[in-house]
Amino acid sequence: MDDSVDRVAQPWGGRTPYGRHEPWPARVDTYLAEGVEPGMVHRWVQTASVLHSDGDAMDVAVRDGRLVGVRGRVTDRVNRGRLGPKDLFGWQANAAADRLTRPLIRQDGRLVECSWSTAMDKVVAMSRELMGSRGPGAIGFYTTGQLFLEEYYTLAVLARAGVGTNHLDGNTRLCTSTAAEALKESFGCDGQPGTYDDIDHADVIALFGHNMAETQPVQWMRVLDRLAGSDPPRLVCVDPRPTPAARQATVHLAPRGGTNVALLNALLHEVIRAGHIDDGYVAAHTVGFEELAARVAHCTPQWAAEICDIPSARIREAAEVLGTADRLLSTVLQGVYQSHQATAAAVQINNLHLIRGMLGRPGAGVLQMNGQPSAQNTRECGANGDLPAFRNWENDSHVADLAKVWNVEPEDIPHYAPPTPAMQMFRYAEQGSIGMLWISGTNPAVSLPELSRIRSILSQDRLFVVVQDLFLTETARLADVVLPAATWAEKTGTFTNADRTVHLSDKAVEPPGEARPDLEIFLDYAARMDFRDKDGGPLITWQDPETAFEAWKRCSAGRPCDYTGLTYAKLRGGTGIQWPCNEQTPEGTERLYADGISWAHPDDCESYGKDLVTGASVGVVEYRSLNPDGKAVLKAAEYLPPHEPPDEDYPFQLTTGRTIYHFHTRTKTGRVPQLNSAAPDVWVEISNADAAAQELVEGDLVEVTTPRGALRARTRVTDIRPGLLFVPFHFGYWDTPGGHGPDDSTPGRAANELTVTDWDPVSKQPLFKTAAAALRLLERGDGKPAPAPTTAASAPMAAAGVPATTGGASAHATQTASDDQSGQEGEGA
Ligand code: SF4
Repeated sequence: MDDSVDRVAQPWGGRTPYGRHEPWPARVDTYLAEGVEPGMVHRWVQTASVLHSDGDAMDVAVRDGRLVGVRGRVTDRVNRGRLGPKDLFGWQANAAADRLTRPLIRQDGRLVECSWSTAMDKVVAMSRELMGSRGPGAIGFYTTGQLFLEEYYTLAVLARAGVGTNHLDGNTRLCTSTAAEALKESFGCDGQPGTYDDIDHADVIALFGHNMAETQPVQWMRVLDRLAGSDPPRLVCVDPRPTPAARQATVHLAPRGGTNVALLNALLHEVIRAGHIDDGYVAAHTVGFEELAARVAHCTPQWAAEICDIPSARIREAAEVLGTADRLLSTVLQGVYQSHQATAAAVQINNLHLIRGMLGRPGAGVLQMNGQPSAQNTRECGANGDLPAFRNWENDSHVADLAKVWNVEPEDIPHYAPPTPAMQMFRYAEQGSIGMLWISGTNPAVSLPELSRIRSILSQDRLFVVVQDLFLTETARLADVVLPAATWAEKTGTFTNADRTVHLSDKAVEPPGEARPDLEIFLDYAARMDFRDKDGGPLITWQDPETAFEAWKRCSAGRPCDYTGLTYAKLRGGTGIQWPCNEQTPEGTERLYADGISWAHPDDCESYGKDLVTGASVGVVEYRSLNPDGKAVLKAAEYLPPHEPPDEDYPFQLTTGRTIYHFHTRTKTGRVPQLNSAAPDVWVEISNADAAAQELVEGDLVEVTTPRGALRARTRVTDIRPGLLFVPFHFGYWDTPGGHGPDDSTPGRAANELTVTDWDPVSKQPLFKTAAAALRLLERGDGKPAPAPTTAASAPMAAAGVPATTGGASAHATQTASDDQSGQEGEGA
């Protein structure tokens, strides 16, 4: 294979079939800008993709100090040279003409350019004033899942031990906090049990609310290659949309929104009833089996069929496939995580693996997935949830240990309550107790639920908003100070993907204008604030990415996410490496829990767990009595119905989600011609039956409303579950006359105009999957199709006659079958 493929039309490229237990063949994907031949590239510099959580390793091509293309790294364990559409084309956004190049401050209601010292002086003055007058709790930091590890760690130290605030969280709260909570509930500690290599060995792959084809396209290529090879796996897919996985599945279940716990309890009921239990594993490694079995005893397929609106025979069929799997790999994402019983549902998937003994062996694993490239690092570094390196805020010895690493007193690290989750932080800002909110690398004016409320919070005069970003986003337009940030390939650092693989991303080119790496901005703030340790020395002792990484290694030593065996030199030139990596495991660790459950002991665990209904902490006393030896906890959950069921006024369920061509709020992908033209505007998906009942056809312009707001979109008629509407959440207002929100000339466009302020009680992850909505026709489409891609879950009904999505000549990339690893070494910049 050595050919050129339109990777917008064929997002997953060609197949390299392979059989079970065989290594995944290499395939190198390359894209160079028009007019650039391979011989014209001056340097290849190593990095990995920042537009999803897969961690696709690649080298960027540099010519005359500019990025001119990308090539997959064949040496890397994650992708073996393959790249997805966002990897291939997304780098072009770095050079967009409207990058922020100078700091901005608000004067007389307008944002005007200023020097770095003017901007930072203003931030420092506001910090000092608030800390002096109202204490450290008046300052909050809301970060992202897209910075580098070194940056989160620095932010965590300066926020927690410098400012002394408990209000630090990431937008990872929106997408990955349930993964972390579910792992803590079951295993006592965060940390992905499985590995992508499990795809090579599994005979059953179950995808729970995970549209892998669009969220992790390169791992979907791996599944497709297995499906095309000998002894292919059977797929079980739980998703209300006709995703590519659903189309390939042996069993596809499309439940009513918000009913995952009922479905999973019925699956567990059937697996237990049929005796597909690994009794030895359950006895050796778990507590709570009797309670779990009792809880699901009444959860028959007939019981769940009515709640989930799925035939009971189909539930039995799925349970039989899951129960008889020789090696089961499960993956989980937002269909589970963004609902009212998110953690309760995700934990039942862990339970399935625990009672079947499906952990720690090739092909037997759970991937509680992440959405963002460095979501794992926000969790590790204490910038999203618990204290750094998975330390337990309720365990005084963990706090004392962290205080020792930072050379501060334990009481200088806030641990009077759990670290404040993002939704609570915005509530504090709404109520006025938070007076300064520093937002880095995220766009809450598009991504948080109930946007009219979020815009009103961010627009308050009494709230001082700092935004650190690449572009003048919807959120930046509401800020008091805007700090221009450098992005990947313009700075050096590491980040860790969903299967614990750490990659190094080297600086390849200079940032535009006066834009600075986020690490430099945080270090500058810490220096200006003059944060000190308990001996009067500087609190932050590092000056650059590599010294920050070394400091993080000291913090991670002896903890589950132990990085002490890694160095920049070791991460350069070969493959990414999975943590823990230390003296005992110098090449990293493929699977956790190969030798039993390691971090659930009461003295070691990151969390004592929570009540799955209320979210209240279980507490150390109860945890010790429940789990004195530190086994995995089989935690049962009762099904509770969703909070906002459809009714006469709002007869549909509404769910939001992604397309393969865009990332988050489109700040980067909306500036990439190949990606943007594949999905240029918002649309709404509706089932054929509902479209017929409403007398709607493909392309009609409709208004979708909920009690919170409204948006306008064209209809795409698909095989989606009847009664459900789907709206992609990528579209905001930066490229509309409204700028930051709807106005007289700009109708609602963002999915989150519609969503509800509500969250899972355990993970505090907001709900984006279960609002009640209404829909009405505004204007006939007259044959014009919806601006939705035809390639994946948004594929139209066959009869609709919608032209296929293509990218044309500018979307052609080469794919080369290759085991040749020579000439693939990236150079450090
Ligand atoms: S807040 Fe102070 S007294 Fe309470 S556990 Fe922490 S260090 Fe001890």
